Amino acid sequence: MTEEQRPEDQNAKGSILVVGGGISGLTAALEAAEVGYGVILVEKNPYLGGRVTQLKHYFPKLCPPTCGLEINFRRIKDNPRISFYTLAEIQSISGGPGNYDVSVKLNPRYVNEKCTCCGECERVCTTKIPNEFNFGMDTMTGAYLPSEMAFPLRYVISPKILGTDDAKKCVEACQYDAIDLEMQPENVNLKVGAIIWATGWKPYDASKIDNLGFQYENVITNMMMERLASLDGPTGGKVVRPSDSKGISKIAFVQCAGSRDENHLPYCSYICCMASLKQATYVREQFPEAKIYVFYIDIRAPGFRYEKFYKKIKEDENIFFIKGKVAEVQEDPDTKAITVVAEDAVTGEKVQETVDMAVLATGMVPNTADTRLPGDVKCDPDGFVISDLDGGGMFATGCAVKPLDVVSSNQHATGMALKAIQTLVSS
Ligand SMILES: Cc1cc2nc3c(=O)[nH]c(=O)nc-3n(C[C@H](O)[C@H](O)[C@H](O)COP(=O)(O)OP(=O)(O)OC[C@H]3O[C@@H](n4cnc5c(N)ncnc54)[C@H](O)[C@@H]3O)c2cc1C
Ligand code: SF4
Ligand code: SF4
Repeated sequence: MTEEQRPEDQNAKGSILVVGGGISGLTAALEAAEVGYGVILVEKNPYLGGRVTQLKHYFPKLCPPTCGLEINFRRIKDNPRISFYTLAEIQSISGGPGNYDVSVKLNPRYVNEKCTCCGECERVCTTKIPNEFNFGMDTMTGAYLPSEMAFPLRYVISPKILGTDDAKKCVEACQYDAIDLEMQPENVNLKVGAIIWATGWKPYDASKIDNLGFQYENVITNMMMERLASLDGPTGGKVVRPSDSKGISKIAFVQCAGSRDENHLPYCSYICCMASLKQATYVREQFPEAKIYVFYIDIRAPGFRYEKFYKKIKEDENIFFIKGKVAEVQEDPDTKAITVVAEDAVTGEKVQETVDMAVLATGMVPNTADTRLPGDVKCDPDGFVISDLDGGGMFATGCAVKPLDVVSSNQHATGMALKAIQTLVSS
């Protein structure tokens, strides 16, 4: 599907606006639309799906996120009550519960719905830009498909190549008349009755943690690990040392990297213990003999299913759990090996392990931590959005509210869809 679904009546007061098209926004939108309410979804990326599109597998079932996302995308396609905009940002909000006026800016993609994803523009474009989807671990050309599971499935021309010979070459190469370099930003005005903020999260910036060695090539973050292990990632799914592309015989996971630390994120990020346990399975799948060290303060595996997953991982005799906060990470400049130093909280002894690579289990920061949302939306001191549950018409869901896994995000989003419907019914 290359086309965006646009609302037939942008002034439908009885509609719900959902801001953010990650798993929480998709769920809130679908639940409300399938009950019979009109929903307009606004996403700033050129694709829907949010962060889970970057994951290799979901814990605890270890299935690819593609499956669940595809079902959601099909539900959207089949539901005329949902419309959505990508590359879109909310400019302003005025009014109150039951009657909000919203102005949305649509940024140009420079590719229209005639795109067949033939890839010819990508082949002729020579400008390389950092691939943000892969956290800069590789580059992509200025004409690109955001990801293999992109929805809508349509190429994007980066504004970075506008006005260059490359841009002209892309237009000439496109046999479908799908590239329009004259596209301009547009504004649309919407009238909606309730608003759900599903603006999600971003990884904590590991370069702010000065003792965990993120400056070294072989120290990566957990989200980089997801991309390394993904078949459509920078190494075609091979988990290798960034410095020399060699395989792994020893690897360390450093838990609470930045989380539960007053100097960084004071809260527990909820999912990063489970994410590291899951990533241990990525390593084990490719390197049956590799030794895996997990340095932790507490392992948080909430609920029966996650506890069971943790127990199963512990059965692996080459996975070692060391209870101790990592104090230091060093690099051997010759071999590029990484040494992780911690104090064992059980024995009180200093422990250190030299490994091929270390993965920092960095936490989740709300996207609203450093950008203010329009419409007088309230946030807590960490930047998480506070829902206006007492008669208001603005609600927040998913990781916009607190760090959550996918199942809890879905449950929360369903609840917030109901709150939004109640606003429409009562106003
Ligand atoms: C390393 C790691 C591994 C993980 N693995 C798992 C796992 O295996 N299983 C699991 O259950 N959970 C996992 N998680 C957690 C999972 O990623 C989250 O639960 C999930 O992403 C929450 O979805 P969300 O929609 O709330 O937020 P997001 O996925 O962040 O989506 C938010 C969307 O809103 C958009 N947006 C933001 N601001 C605006 C704006 N102003 N206007 C318009 N759009 C906006 C964003 O572009 C994005 O598309 C993992 C997390 C990490 C860090
Ligand atoms: S050449 Fe045209 S049709 Fe082919 S991927 Fe690029 S924009 Fe789409
Ligand atoms: S989930 Fe685990 S690694 Fe993440 S902050 Fe909480 S205790 Fe630390």
